Amino acid sequence: MDHPTVVTIGFDDGRETQANAGAILADYGFAGTFYVTSGGNGSTFGLDNPGFMTEDQVRILELQGHEIGGHTRSHPNLASLDRVDQTVEISGGRQDLIDDGLRAPVSFAYPYGSYNVSAQDVAQSCGYTNARSVDNGLDTIPPAVPMAVNAFESVTSAPNRYVPVSDLQDWVRSAQDSADQKWVNLYWHDVVDAQHPGWGVTGLGDGAPGYEGSVADFQTFLDWLQGEVTAGRAIVKTAGEVCGAEPVQPKNQPSGAIGELWRAKGGYTSFLGTPLNSEYSVPGVSGARMEDFEDGQIYWSPSTGAHEVHGAILDKYLEWGGPASYGLPVTDETTTPDGVGRFNHFDGGRSIYWTPGTGAHTVYGSIREEWRSLGWELGILGYPTSDESDGINGARYNDFQRGKIYWSPSTGAHEVHGAILDRWASLGWEHSTLGLPVSDEFAISGGRQSTFQGGYITWTSAGGTVVH
Ligand SMILES: [Zn+2]
Repeated sequence: MDHPTVVTIGFDDGRETQANAGAILADYGFAGTFYVTSGGNGSTFGLDNPGFMTEDQVRILELQGHEIGGHTRSHPNLASLDRVDQTVEISGGRQDLIDDGLRAPVSFAYPYGSYNVSAQDVAQSCGYTNARSVDNGLDTIPPAVPMAVNAFESVTSAPNRYVPVSDLQDWVRSAQDSADQKWVNLYWHDVVDAQHPGWGVTGLGDGAPGYEGSVADFQTFLDWLQGEVTAGRAIVKTAGEVCGAEPVQPKNQPSGAIGELWRAKGGYTSFLGTPLNSEYSVPGVSGARMEDFEDGQIYWSPSTGAHEVHGAILDKYLEWGGPASYGLPVTDETTTPDGVGRFNHFDGGRSIYWTPGTGAHTVYGSIREEWRSLGWELGILGYPTSDESDGINGARYNDFQRGKIYWSPSTGAHEVHGAILDRWASLGWEHSTLGLPVSDEFAISGGRQSTFQGGYITWTSAGGTVVH
């Protein structure tokens, strides 16, 4: 055939699981149409309500290149409303989305597929170019009745919900078999892992049959569809595109080394998520570039390469002034050898270590070197439990799970731990006459010792600690 079948991948209501579906679609390079119930006017159905996406999540969908369509404010049965209330719902819902900073929607879906002549007219008058029914069937290009477009629901209403992938494929094949170019307008509700609490039970807790299709089935269908697209037998378009709108494109397309790393991590469905901007120069670090993502950042320079920073480690990094003061990352976030913690190393011998129990902390310079020589987190001290902090008289220290490292220009960096640390603490740390440690703990006959500027503390099993 010389006309690929047009396939639209639609989603109704703005349910929370669709944020993930949008990222999956974006990784395939497909743009979907998300018919979002705005939740405006105090509605408990729609955006920012339990079970639904947030406004931010819908803005992310748009950054991913998807079309946001309207689906009223509160999801009423439109045929049961008078024209005034239809206008509040249809036009008001559209305006809510515009007020949320989204593109002016051109595609609309009637809740429950319920419409009448008045509802069609209201939808068209307020700026929609097309409106989707739930009448099953192929449609034409352009649709025969743009304000009542046919569709295929990816779930059946009873008794057991989601249609098999083979049905989705059959709908597309039936269009491909047609003499004219056809539109296969598919729509989903929830796309979830089979382990999802709502799986196969209910829709939005309303006792109705569930609307869940599995992520695995969704991806199986998309894999197949991608093959059809590559072979020229299908083309994926948003409903708006089918009805004359310009194609929507992902707003930001990471490129170069930053883009390579982002794609290697998994792209839109990675922990970094969606790019929020295009790469830009790192403030205060000449020649370095960076890009912001939904849940992290990637930094690049010729000498350090591209590395990501995210989560609590990113928060700590930015708290400490980011690249201009703490250096560029020289590793991605990496799991520690014991499997418990995570770390990034940064340029200039700086690190940030995180564990669930200790949080994220800076450790760098001579203190880090001392910690490294003791075997990092696997050594006697464990993980840092404080950032590097000020002691007295220019001294600096880090707290660790099982001790401390103190540093000053004249004494260097030394660890103190165990019973000797407890004794030193009881005297007032470096404020005491002992001052700062000038040695690590070392073995003596029958015990251990740490030497300080003003004396030393010994420990023996028989006599405990003694201050000398
Ligand atoms: Zn709906």
